[in-house]
This record gives sequence, C-alpha cells and structure tokens, in this order.
Amino acid sequence: MARKTSEQGGQDFASLGLQEKLVQTLQSLGYEEPTPIQREAIPPLLEGKDVVGQAATGTGKTAAFALPLVQRLAGLGEDRPQPSVLVLVPTRELAMQVAEATHRYGRSLGVTVLPIYGGQAFGPQLRGLERGVDVVVATPGRALDHIRRQTLQLDKISAVVLDEADEMLDMGFAEDLEAILSQSPAERQTVLFSATLPPRIAALAKNHVKDPVRILVAREAVAKGSLPRIRQTAYLVPRAYKLSALSRVLDVENPTSTLVFCRTRTEVDQLAETLAARGHRAEALHGGMSQEQRSRVIKRLRAGAAELVIATDVAARGLDIEQLTHVVNYDVPSAPEAYVHRIGRVGRAGKEGVAITLAEPREHRLLRNFEYATKQKIMVEQIPTVSDLRAKRLELTRTALRETLLAGNLDGFQVVVESLAEEFDCMDVAAAAVKLVHQANAGENDEEEIPVAPPPRERPPRSAPGDRAEPRGSKKGPRRQGDRMGGMTRLYIGAGRQAGIRPQDLVGAIAGEAGISGRDVGAIDIADRFSLVEVPENLAGAVIQALRGATIKGKKVTVRRDNREG
Ligand code: AMP
Repeated sequence: MARKTSEQGGQDFASLGLQEKLVQTLQSLGYEEPTPIQREAIPPLLEGKDVVGQAATGTGKTAAFALPLVQRLAGLGEDRPQPSVLVLVPTRELAMQVAEATHRYGRSLGVTVLPIYGGQAFGPQLRGLERGVDVVVATPGRALDHIRRQTLQLDKISAVVLDEADEMLDMGFAEDLEAILSQSPAERQTVLFSATLPPRIAALAKNHVKDPVRILVAREAVAKGSLPRIRQTAYLVPRAYKLSALSRVLDVENPTSTLVFCRTRTEVDQLAETLAARGHRAEALHGGMSQEQRSRVIKRLRAGAAELVIATDVAARGLDIEQLTHVVNYDVPSAPEAYVHRIGRVGRAGKEGVAITLAEPREHRLLRNFEYATKQKIMVEQIPTVSDLRAKRLELTRTALRETLLAGNLDGFQVVVESLAEEFDCMDVAAAAVKLVHQANAGENDEEEIPVAPPPRERPPRSAPGDRAEPRGSKKGPRRQGDRMGGMTRLYIGAGRQAGIRPQDLVGAIAGEAGISGRDVGAIDIADRFSLVEVPENLAGAVIQALRGATIKGKKVTVRRDNREG
C-alpha cells in the first residue's frame, strides 16, 4: 500500500522519533521541518523495517534514510561491527555527496563514513576500510571489487541502502547489485529509493526487500480545480552558478515583487546577504526571526515596499499577497505539493504570475512531477547570456532616452551639443551622451558567463554524463574533464587575469573569430596566467584554428586542448 504524505504535517523531527542530538544537528543546518519523504520514511526505518520509496534527488531522501540509520547504528554501542551500513549509489559524484551528507548528519553521534568509488586509487580506500568505518557509501562496481579482495566484508552488515536504484540498473549494475545483496546477511534491513518504479525495480525489490513499507510522495494530492494563470519557467544551472543565474534572471525579468524560496534558514540568510551585496534589495523571512521582524517584512511586501523577499516554506506558509508577481524556487522543492504551494503565491486575483525554478541539471526529472501536478508545461529556458543582459540594459537606456526626447524641454542642453558639433560628428556626440547615461544607470558590471547546461534528456534518465562512475568491466572511460557539460571539450588559452582577460573577452573572441554563438561557450575559468574554456567538442577544432590566427586583447596567445589530468 502506498502511503500518502500529508502537507500540513507540522510534525517536527523529534516527533518522528529522532533523538535530541540529531534534532539539534538539523536545527544547526537550518532545516525547519521534515520533507514529505522524511516524514514517511524515518519512523518505519527507526523501527528497523524495510522501505521502498519513490523519490528523486532534491526530495531530502538522503536525510530520510541516513538519519534513522545512523541513529540505529549509534544504538549498537561503541564496539559495533564495522562497517554496519552499506549505501550503494550509481555515481562517484553521488557517492561523495551522500557520504558528505551522512557525515554531517551522523557526526554528533560519532558515526564515521567513507565513500569508495571507481576511478579513485585503491590505496586510500583500503586504508580507510582497514581503520574501520561505520558507513560505506559506494558505487556498485568498486564495492564488488573490494568484496572480492575481501577488503570489504559484508557479513556483519545490518543495513543496505540502494539509492537511485533505477539509475544503477540503467547503468548496467544489475548483476553487481544482485551479487552484493546476495552476499549480505539475510536478516539485514534494506532500503530502496528510486525516482521511477519500473518492473525491473519491482523485481529487484521483490527478491531483496522484505515486507517493505512503500512510500510514494503523493502526486495527486494537489490542485483541486485549476491553477491560476502562471507562466512556469525553469533554468538548468550547475550549483556553482546558481547565484549568478538568479541575479541575471532578476536583472532581465525586472520583477516588481518577488518571493524567492530556499530550503533552509541558513540558505535564506546567506542568499539575502549575497543578493544585497550585489545591489538587489533583498530581505530575509524565516522561522528563526522574531514574530515582529517577520511581520515587518510581510507588511513591507504587502505595501509594495519590499521588492525581493527570500523565505523558507514554513515562514511563507499562508502568505497571501496580491502584489507578488514572481516566485522563484532557488532550490527545487522537496515534493510536488510544495511546488504547487510555492507557485500558488502568485497569479492571484486574476493577475498573471511567473514561477521560476533553478534546478541543477541532474534534478531535471523532478520538473516532470511538477508538470504533472500542475497539469501545465514548464518551459526549460537558457539562462540569459552576458550579451542578453547587455542588450536588456541598453534597451532600458534607449527607453529612458526616448522618454526624455518625447518630454522635450531640452533647450538648456542643446548649446552643449551645438558647441561639440563644431568639433565632432553629431552621431558621435549623441553616442557619447548615451554611453554616459548608460554607464551611470546600468553600471559596468563585470559579468561572468554562466555555462549552458545540457537540455534534459528523455529516457533513459541519467545524471550529467561526467558524474557517472564507470560500470564494471569497462576499460578506462573517456576523459572526464572537459566533457562535464555533455560533449564539451576544455581548451587552454595562454592568457589570464594578469593579461586583463575577462570572461566576456573570451566569449567575444570565440564567438567572433570562430563564428559560433556565445551560448555555445561553456564554463570559463580564468587563472592568473591562463584560462580554461569549455566549447562543444564538435566545434573545438574550428575554435582552435580560428583563435590561433587571432589576437585576444591585442595579443597572440597559445590555444590548445587542455590535456592536464583533471
Ligand atoms: P537530497 O534529496 O537528499 O539530495 O537533498 C536535497 C537537499 O535538501 C540537500 O541540500 C539537503 O541538505 C536539503 N534538505 C534535506 N532535508 C531537508 C529539510 N528537512 N529541510 C530543508 N532542507 C533539507
């Protein structure tokens, strides 16, 4: 039986059965309340039951299994077997992430964690395993290597987690999983999380999971009737560029009144501060603030005096503010209901609203759940480029000039134009005036180019290619570096910060000389003496050719494929 999640839970972490130290840890991480999957999974896992859950990245699933498992593990006492918990994940990227998160959750209970994955030398992994760790987070291939070498022993394992099980099957790990599961003790506790539950997952669960509690983060419990008119847009942005992306989107959308949602209080505070530092008038709203502070922000929002409020779900619950034009999900919400709730803050009173979601490339499939829940399409768009932004700013300057021309009353200024016209061309005089106005209004911000994430793929769903660990048996795969954005190659350019190189110079040179679009240029990294630029693999040759014959900032520079091992 699939259990449905309740939206208005209000249950806190302690009432799920988590002990004080963990509750404090979560508080210090700024988590205000459990996500739906956590509410559903933590109690049965604490009781030692098996769980099969449908949940993708971004739902809080890592905490959903890690918190109860570390609590049970710590309950085994100091001389517990090591390792006691094995978490299997499809990619090295995820192994690192899950290990990191588990470490963060379990630290206060003295729980130790080690990630092991393909592509990394055996030495450090061996030493880690020999020293003894409580939780091993591994990709299946590498786990099996260690099991065969007897450097990883499963006979005392009390819990196994299969995280992103569908992804592991898609990557050809089925046999490895079978081998690992059949070698671990039959009385172990088993957790299986998967974004989708196709028959192959059902078969895996049937053979290896005992009488599980099944959890489905409900999709249907939303939106009775139709949603208000909301334009839904998403941008796929690597985590490191989220802040620039948000700032850029706000610049281009130029919204009157925006509510930006983050997951935690800490994130709210950090984002509000950083946005303020970038010149946006951002205010924070979260449960850690006093009632009085919160009321003040809400009042300002209502009065139209606050343009940009950064909030957690809890703090924004029940907010009904007609003036809001935009809602931004800085993080993908943990469940479709949360998404529907958040975006329901706009589009009130018959006005059109805009909902913008910043998702990491690997989270793209959550968007499909949101489309399903809202019965509306979410348009995945490209982050405006530096030149889009410039064009937008120029357009604003043009509008301002046009208004000034229409308003007339320019007598006092015409003498200046007349006197300059004796010396210069009238067009040049006008252009210089525009430049001055433009610089005064728009500033000359040094904008960095934000790499273009690959468009979401349909089946088979996968995470970003570079995140993938090698399936077993494959020889050394293609070089990881440079192809992170899907078919991208990294170029080395022999000029950097010391030569005054800025991202826009590189984009300009590449787009201008090689005749490709600035949007095709990926991540740019400028070091003191050189720069690294990602370009599409199929255009790399042409770009190198073109740049070798060109100058950047007036100088000839070395250009080649970046062949350092990364
Ligand atoms: P996951 O789905 O496990 O990849 O988690 C996605 C993100 O949600 C991570 O950045 C977590 O730190 C965060 N997170 C998990 N649980 C909560 C919670 N209850 N409240 C706020 N953030 C959370």
